[in-house]
Amino acid sequence: ITTKIAALPPGTPYFSLEFFPPKTPMGSSNLRARLARMSHSLRPLFVTVTWGAGGSTADRSLELAELCQRELGLTTCLHLTCTNMKRELVDRALEDAKALGVRNILALRGDPPREDYGYSDGGGAEEKEFEWAVDLVRYIRKGYGDYFCIGVAAYPEGHADESHPEGQSLEHDLPYLVEKVKAGADFVMTQLFFDVEAYDKFERRLREHESGVFKDLPIIPGMMPIQSYQMIKRTTKLSHAKMPKAVMDRLDAVKGDDEMVKKVGVDIVSELVTHIQNQPSPGPRGFHFYTLNLEKAVSFILERTNLIPCSPTDDDCAIVEEPMSLPL
Ligand code: FAD
Repeated sequence: ITTKIAALPPGTPYFSLEFFPPKTPMGSSNLRARLARMSHSLRPLFVTVTWGAGGSTADRSLELAELCQRELGLTTCLHLTCTNMKRELVDRALEDAKALGVRNILALRGDPPREDYGYSDGGGAEEKEFEWAVDLVRYIRKGYGDYFCIGVAAYPEGHADESHPEGQSLEHDLPYLVEKVKAGADFVMTQLFFDVEAYDKFERRLREHESGVFKDLPIIPGMMPIQSYQMIKRTTKLSHAKMPKAVMDRLDAVKGDDEMVKKVGVDIVSELVTHIQNQPSPGPRGFHFYTLNLEKAVSFILERTNLIPCSPTDDDCAIVEEPMSLPL
């Protein structure tokens, strides 16, 4: 991923798309067709495949990574969590990824089961081998040298869970994020957010950090297309992302009309992207889209914000391919 980013002509933006492994054969065949369509028409720089905490989706995640990397020829990044994962499962995931030609891992802690916090001790000794994402970053670097390009997660508004009941804050996370980069992470990918001021502050804080580790590092903001009113309420609650009042007011005004929610949602996320695109950056600007395996909203946002790169077969890159006129 970082090699591809570095090879982009100056000022060229890029984006990535995230997919999760479907649970059913029908879901898989739908996603296969959608992925083929999206990779052809949208041309992401790379795609990412999520991993169920504790390895719950291991086989399906690897199958999806195989489809993306091998069959569709997409640069693929496999998410990998480490908490409550036996070392053998981590080893198998990394070996399988390597065998598939996957060169990128998003190294994550994952969310421990609830009983892991508080008074109960949680998992067994071997599951405690990896406690934080940094343990996984170190483990991959030790075992695989530079074979994998490694990404790590960051939280513009601070990470929130029961592991630090004092509340979420960027200041709390920063030393650990620095540690992850010093341990060998090559890029940072963020949690979704709608508070663009919080994002600006986050990125500035990283770029100016006294350690200097973020100076030129790709920092990829995570964008969540708005698929429905209920879904965005639920997602922002789960992720603890703040919904600024001005943004919520726009959605509240149309909440009874699903089509309008999608339309306003495209406006909102496109405005976020455009705002960030206009901020100074030491390297090419990138965006990561949490697609939830859906196609339309992200396609509209990418088209609206001119993020879709020219096809190598275009004679003249100024000529846009057939306009997307999918009804929302
Ligand atoms: P860490 O970097 O380990 O940080 C977790 C928390 O612990 C932070 O608050 C940090 O400040 C603190 N901390 C870190 N080190 C220490 C230390 N040494 N001592 C004390 N505190 C410390 N989850 C999945 O299950 N599957 C996925 O596919 C997935 N994909 C994701 C993709 C992105 C882009 C993002 C942003 C998150 C994703 N997650 C996924 C969620 C992630 O697993 C959770 O948010 C998890 O709670 C934290 O993971 P982390 O890698 O940020 O952990």
